[in-house]
Amino acid sequence: MGLGGVKRAFKFRFYPTLDQAEQLSRTFGCVRLVYNKALEERTRVYATESRSMTYGQSSAALTAWKRSDEFGFLNEVSSVPLQQSLRHLQSAYSAFFAKRSKHPTFKSKRKSRASAEYTRSAFTYRDGHLTLAKQAGPLDIRWSRPLPERAEPSTVTVSRDAAGRWHVSVLVEDTTLRHLPVVDQVVGLDVGITTLATLSTGEKIDNPRHERADRRKLAKAQRVLARKGKATNNRAKARVKVARVHARIADRRCDHLHKLSTRLVRENQAVVIEDLNVRAMMGNRRLARAIGDVAWSELRSMLEYKAVWYGRTVVAVNRWFPSSKLCSACGQRVESLPLHVREWTCPCGAVHDRDVNAARNILAAGLAERRNACGGPVRPEPRQWQRHGPVKQEPRTARFGIPAPPGGGGGQPFNAPCMIPPTIWRDSRMKIATTGSTARDAPASMSE
Ligand SMILES: [Zn+2]
Repeated sequence: MGLGGVKRAFKFRFYPTLDQAEQLSRTFGCVRLVYNKALEERTRVYATESRSMTYGQSSAALTAWKRSDEFGFLNEVSSVPLQQSLRHLQSAYSAFFAKRSKHPTFKSKRKSRASAEYTRSAFTYRDGHLTLAKQAGPLDIRWSRPLPERAEPSTVTVSRDAAGRWHVSVLVEDTTLRHLPVVDQVVGLDVGITTLATLSTGEKIDNPRHERADRRKLAKAQRVLARKGKATNNRAKARVKVARVHARIADRRCDHLHKLSTRLVRENQAVVIEDLNVRAMMGNRRLARAIGDVAWSELRSMLEYKAVWYGRTVVAVNRWFPSSKLCSACGQRVESLPLHVREWTCPCGAVHDRDVNAARNILAAGLAERRNACGGPVRPEPRQWQRHGPVKQEPRTARFGIPAPPGGGGGQPFNAPCMIPPTIWRDSRMKIATTGSTARDAPASMSE
């Protein structure tokens, strides 16, 4: 099934000539200035006249600044990125009024991303050559992948990162995307601290390779930077070095997340994730680095937009759902499960890897939630659940923290609830009715 065109951004590196670099840097400066001035003006008008400025009024103000002697230099750069800058401010305000974000803040030369956005009237794209307004020649772009056939770029964003690298992001309508054939497979995903993610199939996805080595390099570069005197050339050089290590870490992580999200969306009809409040978790310093690395929210947004492309579903389950503490075999909830406990045995006898158990619970909860919401089962009919991967039901042994099953020495066959293997049990929650009452009662404890 076609999608009738989905907006997709393709990002490429490019190498500007000295003239282009100088001209673009000036444009970035003007974009930032216009944004900050308009923000200042809006804030002032609101404070003194308690009314908010519209986009049209900001735009009129921009015209006035351009005519003034003081800001006449704004005419030297393309007017489109300046207008876009006002539009961005407008969206920032809309998000603020809708309580989706905080009040807009001023852009800083050092900390904000240097970028300029060009719409259709401010660039030409012909025979694979992209030329920006006010520039003589095309940009020297490394087209690392082809744009979709007959793609007509609608917006082009030029940026320079802290490591001094130039990128151009080209927004096109992609009409070549097609929904993938429907599959039976569904998967639950538990984000980790030591591993990046654990799947309900038992598979563990590691963090990007080299991450640790990169971390050490970053720490070293940061120590060097800390020793440099203020406002010196050496300090500037050290800062670029730190930025380069940061950039490499971010690139590798992004690459890793793209591969993972594409794979999950291709292989599964539905991906169930936990609706974590990342910001709240960041408050915990010990977890902060690990969670930052994992880049959970990045992964989530990739999963979500790719699901739209390929006709899949992403379900986010409530973040207060006790995914770790619930036995995915019998539905019982354990009282406490400290973070260091990686493997535990339920009184019912099931031995769980902490993360795999959580992923299975997330999957079950997501499918139940979705079924309730739609008044019908998730499509396709979850007939064949995914086979459990490498995780085995080992003979039960008492592990740290969790008491051994009452009256149960090792070696006995699983008792009542676990006579029903996890597969059937979960299946039973979704559609069932053929199994015993224990299985049907179990879901009640899920909703705690
Ligand atoms: Zn159990």
